[in-house]
Amino acid sequence: MTLITKPAHRISLTRLRLGCHALRIQTGKYENRGALIPVEERTCLVCKEDCIEHEQHFLMYCQGYTTLRRELHSHISNVDTHYNRLSDNEKTRYLLRAENTITSKIIGKYIHLMFKKRKEILDSQL
Ligand SMILES: [Zn+2]
Repeated sequence: MTLITKPAHRISLTRLRLGCHALRIQTGKYENRGALIPVEERTCLVCKEDCIEHEQHFLMYCQGYTTLRRELHSHISNVDTHYNRLSDNEKTRYLLRAENTITSKIIGKYIHLMFKKRKEILDSQL
């Protein structure tokens, strides 16, 4: 993880890996005045497609990040040609666990940009 030189990128990736992030799968534990919101009600407020906002939804499926995700996948497959042949579950694990210097840097950068985009989208709904 120390391979990622930009602190903001490293922090975004570390938080996602540790489950210490703003996605509702986590925040839904507390956002209702400390009362637990059932997992199936922790839906994504970015796409509002009634999907639970967990790590895989954020990384692989949410419509709010389509452009960033396309760029991320394209950069990774340029570095690691094996990537495109992985299933969605394997890609999710790959993104969360990448140990290679170059891919970690790319992933850290894009996860940071996706969280930034998430905040922009949610702030614009206020
Ligand atoms: Zn979504």
